[in-house]
Amino acid sequence: MPDSIQFVRHVQKSRLHNPLMEGKLDTQEIEIRRDPLTGAQSVFNPRLEDKVAMFFGESDPALIEKLAKESEPRCFLCGDRWQEMTPTYNDAELPEGRIQVGEAVLFPNLFPAAQVHAVIRVGDRHYVPLAEFEAAPVVEALQASLQFARSIGERDRSVEYLTTNANYLGPAGASIAHPHFQVMGGDLPFSYMETVFLAARRHFEANGSCYWTDLVELEKRTGERYIGATGPVEWIASFSPRGTNEVIGVLPRRTSFLEMDDADAAGLGQGLVDVLHAYADMGVSTFNFAVYSGRLHERDDALRCFVRVISRQNLYENYRTDDFFLQKLLRNELILTTPEVLAETVRSRMDRRPA
Ligand SMILES: [Zn+2]
Repeated sequence: MPDSIQFVRHVQKSRLHNPLMEGKLDTQEIEIRRDPLTGAQSVFNPRLEDKVAMFFGESDPALIEKLAKESEPRCFLCGDRWQEMTPTYNDAELPEGRIQVGEAVLFPNLFPAAQVHAVIRVGDRHYVPLAEFEAAPVVEALQASLQFARSIGERDRSVEYLTTNANYLGPAGASIAHPHFQVMGGDLPFSYMETVFLAARRHFEANGSCYWTDLVELEKRTGERYIGATGPVEWIASFSPRGTNEVIGVLPRRTSFLEMDDADAAGLGQGLVDVLHAYADMGVSTFNFAVYSGRLHERDDALRCFVRVISRQNLYENYRTDDFFLQKLLRNELILTTPEVLAETVRSRMDRRPA
């Protein structure tokens, strides 16, 4: 039942004598949005809309190039260095040691932060500006992640929860420039997934339908935040984003990574690259994403596979973090570009791509 989804907006008023308005009393309206699934809040002050530069400085392409050049000679993902420099899985987990799909190579993280923690090399170029990301290497890396999920799924039944993630460049948390993804998971869901699983179950029990398929249907009908489809993946700008410029991709027919096939990887990869190209149009140089799966060994109709992509602070000298107390400790997000405007930007990028 798509109509059971509520897009809640709460308005607050804040007053001040404004020196920019000759000291006149200025009333500013602040809109607080709630995520229809989790209730998580994001904040929008329309007066900040033209002040994006106050929060996000301009990327410095010359500095990014310089940093990339400096790190290239010791990069373990460049050329065939990965063959000597990266670890391998043992026979019981992955008999072939690593997974290779085209230019993508998947291998264990040297210092895992979860029961399952793999790194995937994405393409052979050391540094790729967002505008130059191509679908093929991204799709190969996603295919490698799915092959890995199938292999783990067969060999280690204790692994129920998997995610495929990315950090790109320093402000997004990446320690190396070379594009790479990370598969993480284990026998426990991550905190965010736990929240989502519970909320999705509540939605399913109250309405007899899945939140994500309902969301896609509703957003398609209203159109304001619906972006488009890439193969089997539907793209939407989040009503109440969890990060800057958040775009969600939903796979309405898939509940876990074990159900996903090459067409899903292709749709996901193409859509991700379209979002990155739209970010490039907006002057953005960094991003994070996470692809989420329901439990691997127990199908849950309340869940669907989905991805969230966000942009992060731009890279320039002495950049300031985009994550301050509001996000880290109060768990609210700040909206600078509205999801409705963002949807338009990404949609126009998707429409301009040669089919
Ligand atoms: Zn490299």
